[in-house]
Amino acid sequence: MSDTRPLSLSATKIRRLVDLAAEVISLIVPHRNGADMARMQSELEAKETLIREQAAALAHSRKIFNRSSAVAKIGVWECTLPEETLHWTDVVYDLFDLPRGSPLDRAQIVNCYSEASAKELHVRRSKAIDERGSFDMDAEIITAKGNRRWIRLTATVECAEDVPVRIFGMKQDITEQKILLERTRYLAEFDLMTGLANRSQFQSRLSNLCEREPNASGALMLIDLDGFKGVNDTLGHAVGDECLKEIAQRLKQVCRDVEVVARIGGDEFAVLLGPHSCQSAIADLAGQIVEAVSRPVEHCGQSIKLGASVGIALLDTCTPDELFKKADSALYAAKAAGRNTFQIFEPTTMKW
Ligand code: GH3
Ligand code: MG
Repeated sequence: MSDTRPLSLSATKIRRLVDLAAEVISLIVPHRNGADMARMQSELEAKETLIREQAAALAHSRKIFNRSSAVAKIGVWECTLPEETLHWTDVVYDLFDLPRGSPLDRAQIVNCYSEASAKELHVRRSKAIDERGSFDMDAEIITAKGNRRWIRLTATVECAEDVPVRIFGMKQDITEQKILLERTRYLAEFDLMTGLANRSQFQSRLSNLCEREPNASGALMLIDLDGFKGVNDTLGHAVGDECLKEIAQRLKQVCRDVEVVARIGGDEFAVLLGPHSCQSAIADLAGQIVEAVSRPVEHCGQSIKLGASVGIALLDTCTPDELFKKADSALYAAKAAGRNTFQIFEPTTMKW
């Protein structure tokens, strides 16, 4: 029967075997003939050439990678586990405004992340390590020079025999994309002239409120300036614009605890009151709005007198469209009642 016990060799035995192998080689080599030596020599040269070519190809690839990663502002990072030793390519150093190649301390780097991003990073990273998975996220950082940046981070956990040994990925500067996205979102949701919500944001807030609180109290107020064409006609469009901006500020000041204050058309504004507003508070606010708009606007030494009519529809089981029509009908009634006043929609006396 053969011995199946595992072979265990001590360091001394291994050393002895290595010495023996060296002795055998020294005996064989001198006896090799010239042809063998020439063949081995040419094989060695071929291998050297191959290694040189591969090294050149690698250097070329690295150069291309570095150039394109610099243009795309994408850097590569890795962190050994569990030691947490960080390694970065140059682009990541640039992203954090740190001198290239300087020593990295992970705890200090995490301090560069905003509080929310650091929290998110901790949660996602721990989960990825636990599950031997990967994640990506956008994070906000303040660099060593105090610059605020947004980075897109990808991470993958590498394991050796199911033990996480490394986490690595890419970091990309996405600050410009973020700014562009925020600008686009702002343009889509806000009125550029006054800074109030625009009609589109107002519509979606109105739909949300009607869906969320179908039977709640609350109200929609439509506010239209009185005789505003006259301001444009007598003082010019630019002065008219200044008046619209001033009125928007006043509405914002008066309507503090509301869902949204919006400019929904030329001289038309809307205020959406949340479900906890009772009818007397709604009427009170409408009175304050009329009063705030009627205070003269002081512009370039001129005192411009404006006024507003307000139509109110109380939130009930109707759809956003129906609610809007009711408020519009009440607004029409306020104009008919002599302007500079408010009316609450009355189903018995008003059509919609
Ligand atoms: P009413 O009392 O019936 O509300 O009439 P009004 O003169 O206020 O005019 P109306 O509400 O029917 O129309 C709004 C006017 O607002 C029309 C236009 O001259 C003016 N307007 C609309 N958009 C702008 C704007 O962006 N800037 C300026 N300066 N004026 C605008
Ligand atoms: Mg008007």
